[in-house]
Amino acid sequence: METKEVNPEHINLDQHTTPLADLPDEENDPEYLISIDGSNQEVPTDDQYPSNRIAFIQIAAVLTRLDLLEEQDSQSFVDPAQVEKLDQTGLQDIVLPSSNYVREEADTVLESWRLQIYDTFKSRKIENKTLLEILMEVSKEDPRYVSDEEILVYRCPNPDCESDGSRIDIQTHIEELGECDVCGTRTYPTDALRTHERVSSTQSNEAAIGAIRQVLEHLTMCAYLNYLSQNHPERLSRVGFVIDGPLAIYDTPSWLHSAILQNIYRVYNRQREAGFEPPIIVGVEKSGQFKDHAENIDRRLNDGTLLHMNNEYIYNFIKSGTTDNEYGEREHYGWPFIYKSNSGRLFVLKIPIPNKGEKYDPMNYPLMKKTLESIENVETALYDDATIPITLAHQRASIPLDTGSRVLELFSQDSTDGS
Ligand SMILES: [Zn+2]
Repeated sequence: METKEVNPEHINLDQHTTPLADLPDEENDPEYLISIDGSNQEVPTDDQYPSNRIAFIQIAAVLTRLDLLEEQDSQSFVDPAQVEKLDQTGLQDIVLPSSNYVREEADTVLESWRLQIYDTFKSRKIENKTLLEILMEVSKEDPRYVSDEEILVYRCPNPDCESDGSRIDIQTHIEELGECDVCGTRTYPTDALRTHERVSSTQSNEAAIGAIRQVLEHLTMCAYLNYLSQNHPERLSRVGFVIDGPLAIYDTPSWLHSAILQNIYRVYNRQREAGFEPPIIVGVEKSGQFKDHAENIDRRLNDGTLLHMNNEYIYNFIKSGTTDNEYGEREHYGWPFIYKSNSGRLFVLKIPIPNKGEKYDPMNYPLMKKTLESIENVETALYDDATIPITLAHQRASIPLDTGSRVLELFSQDSTDGS
């Protein structure tokens, strides 16, 4: 989609900007950042049959100690071998069947996909919880959630079922699975994510792979968020989360975006009840229509200024469409802001929508100032072409959070730290 051609002189920016110094501020600044990004690719499995493909998904999560970023001597915290490992293999590699690729126990690509997603969610762990347990925990306030062991799969995953895609709510157990009353097809709890609806047996499965990749990125964030909040709330109050990309779940699993926001609110509440600040969470968009717009009005923005946008602003000056639709409502759990840093760099940020007050008003985001200052701390890394975790990993103040390592052990490698 083209960015709207708008004469920036016609926008009344005074109504839409706030200097950094005037934004809400809380006491502690984050000392650590956890940055997360995923990548995926489809690879032919056989030179003779290039349409036979499997897919790889890599989720990179990196812990960065902010005070060490500028220092040369950060050896005590960083193991160069681990950084190298991140380069070579990425982290948490997940392999999925794509076109023309069928697992032994399955008859079709679709079945292979569904089974492999279920297996992956059952076997992959973050901080000792499986992805499936994390998914159930995140979904707690979603209508699909029945109990910690059961979730509703709204539609039968069999494309030939006589239910014909209508909603039939198949109660599905995380171990014992479920069954469609109409056609008898076995259902997996991960079918609730609906990524299989994008799977084709013969074509590229970019859409399905991308859909599951974003689910994994955001579940990874929730896993660390929940683990730290339940076990080390004081620690969590000093951590910031940076997602490379929007705070959104697109396409068939988009329902998860509101479950994630509810999960974030639970963490915020738990933190406050325990007497600690919630962590900052921010998505950074390096390109797209908001970024184009930011560049378009760059000249008129002062350094150290936040641009806040309401729905009208977005549809008048940035996106096509009508203001009848609320921007991002179906997919986004963050609201967009544009920030011009003190050194004049432009950032498009998505910040979790607040649970009370008007979301357009930056004064309703208690962590706003802290978030922008943290972004400034790592701003050169955020401008790099490589993904955020990879760039930060190269700055010698970061260590990858791979599947084998525990975040607390990584914290404890920090010799200046008492807890
Ligand atoms: Zn069925």
